[in-house]
Amino acid sequence: APGATRWCAASADATASTVPDELQLVRDLALALTDDPDQLLLHYQPVTDLRSGRIVGAEALLRWRHPERGPVSPMVTVEAAERTGLIVPLGRLVLDRALKQATVWMRTIGREFRMHVNVSPLELRDPRYVDRVAAALVESGVPPENLLLEITETALLTDDETRDTLLALRDLGVGLGIDDFGTGYSSIAHLQRLPVDTVKIDRSLICGVAGDSSDFMLTRAVLGLVQTLGVMIVAEGIEHAVEAAHLRSMGCIYGQGYHLGRPVPAEAFLPSEGKGTGRWASASPA
Ligand code: C2E
Ligand code: MG
Ligand code: MG
Ligand code: MG
Repeated sequence: APGATRWCAASADATASTVPDELQLVRDLALALTDDPDQLLLHYQPVTDLRSGRIVGAEALLRWRHPERGPVSPMVTVEAAERTGLIVPLGRLVLDRALKQATVWMRTIGREFRMHVNVSPLELRDPRYVDRVAAALVESGVPPENLLLEITETALLTDDETRDTLLALRDLGVGLGIDDFGTGYSSIAHLQRLPVDTVKIDRSLICGVAGDSSDFMLTRAVLGLVQTLGVMIVAEGIEHAVEAAHLRSMGCIYGQGYHLGRPVPAEAFLPSEGKGTGRWASASPA
């Protein structure tokens, strides 16, 4: 049926096994954060210029290798952390590690390299969040414009505290991006009033782009609207060359997805390091 292909098959990453004991999981996460932070890892996925194939950035994606349970899905980990306040130390760990890595890739890839870090709406509601980001930037020596904080669309429809935080982050010079655009409320008028400089178009709008014409037109229409904002647009979840080609023809310049490179440990990120971006599968649960 027309439009049906818009709903892509669920990502293997997103469909982790259900958690048998949530409370124990939270205890284990608290313990990992204080006593064994090596259980928590970051994988990095390239953000690529679709015209040249050049890497312009990386998204840091959390991985937790639980000593008994094995890999825990980042969605499960983040949700557990959000329910208990552990999101604050977890977010700090992710930010510090990602910035440290950014200094390395700014030297090898170039000064324009941007590190994308996912931020929970709960972190933004904490008035001390801006100070923590400022401190992490100073500590790492990364200029604010080389950091992009990714915030989901729904998080942006909230309270005044969040809005104040976003404005303060913008004043700091940090990039702000809307993640998973097209899955939530998706009001362009609303977007226009927010201090965002990047919009990441959700995979659900990308995977149909090579399919039937209604999906193609929907994606093109959404891209056209977002393009009027004059922001950087990144298409997420590009799995096939044909999708990249269609997106390029629609004027979408940046992309991310398995076709361009899977999330991998830092050592496997750069092709020049011998392993090649995308060759190593992500260690998140299958
Ligand atoms: P997200 O920020 O939208 O990240 C993109 C997700 O899509 C990642 O899943 C990535 O592995 C996956 N992906 C990338 N390319 C493709 C593709 O071509 N096809 C498919 N099917 N999937 C692709 P992941 O790593 O499982 O992360 C899931 C979500 O967990 C993230 O979605 C983000 O919302 C959250 N998350 C991950 N790390 C963190 C973190 O450090 N902090 C916070 N607050 N949230 C995080
Ligand atoms: Mg993201
Ligand atoms: Mg996303
Ligand atoms: Mg997404």
